[in-house]
Amino acid sequence: MAVLVLGGAGYIGSHTVYELIDRGEDTIVIDNLQTGHIDAIHPDSKFYKGDIRDKEFLDNVFKKEKIDAVIHFAASSLVSESMIDPLKYYDNNLYGTMTLLRSMVENNVDKIIFSSTAATYGEPENIPIKETDRTVPINTYGETKLSMEKMFKWVSVAHNIKYVSLRYFNAAGAHKSGKIGEDHLPETHLIPLILQVPNNKRENVKIFGDDYDTKDGTCIRDYIHVTDLAQAHILAIDYLKKTGKSDIFNLGNGVGFSVKEIIDSARKVTGHPIPAEICPRRSGDPAKLIASNEKAERILGWKPVYTKPENIIESAWRWHKNNPSGFKD
Ligand code: UDP
Repeated sequence: MAVLVLGGAGYIGSHTVYELIDRGEDTIVIDNLQTGHIDAIHPDSKFYKGDIRDKEFLDNVFKKEKIDAVIHFAASSLVSESMIDPLKYYDNNLYGTMTLLRSMVENNVDKIIFSSTAATYGEPENIPIKETDRTVPINTYGETKLSMEKMFKWVSVAHNIKYVSLRYFNAAGAHKSGKIGEDHLPETHLIPLILQVPNNKRENVKIFGDDYDTKDGTCIRDYIHVTDLAQAHILAIDYLKKTGKSDIFNLGNGVGFSVKEIIDSARKVTGHPIPAEICPRRSGDPAKLIASNEKAERILGWKPVYTKPENIIESAWRWHKNNPSGFKD
């Protein structure tokens, strides 16, 4: 099977390429390298540098390669940036996806798996969150991802494209080889920021609010290992090939940990005291986000392997300790 991975030089994309190649699939990567890293691209995959908003470029790749399925990670994904520059998100995430779909329709490629997010739910109405719960995003990023899901729905009706949308909770950790891991600029995610402290890149970690209505006052999130996410994409392709049915799935461990618990866990893993400073709340943060992963388990047969925060943080620490400046090292 030949799989085209859009955004295959990014964090979750690169880990998915590693799993696809491990399974012996032909893997073709497209990335514009704006946030992705050339060194994150698996050496055994084929690489085309370009932007998904460039239809001629996409058409050329679809004509050259015989693609069975597309996995689409190529999107902007910073919540705070999406509030300052919403049109960048409409352009990259929606116009980009629209261009991709046009090209897929014209080139008769009919299967796609794509990244969605827990941010499509906004403030959750239930915990754990089910796929059938209401979706009222509270930021532009989540709104564009929800609009992408709707675009797929209507295009699939008209053009018989089959899709699986995967709503990630908090992606974390790194590949077991230590060769690839998380490297964002700017870094905004909790675990890499915590690990900058034992790496002597920052003095302390900031806790954004300790007055939430949670057990220790800090926000609760469902952290899910990037390799478990990657595996879900492969299961989703198998599912589309087998059933031809479009669907939406949450991807999380189904268990929540507070910011303080994650910092404690990182202290255990690294043996460093990791000082923490209580700061004001960050705007747009719901108190608690935990996935129900029952549907992904039941229908896709997905079972996360990294269920403990220590295991997730250990793998992240292996990467960050050896590559304190990320892919620049
Ligand atoms: N967080 C924090 N300090 C930081 C970064 C994040 O306290 O330096 C908190 C953030 O408020 C949220 C949780 O950690 O409750 C996870 O944030 P992250 O940005 O990693 O992921 P998000 O949940 O926003 O997708």
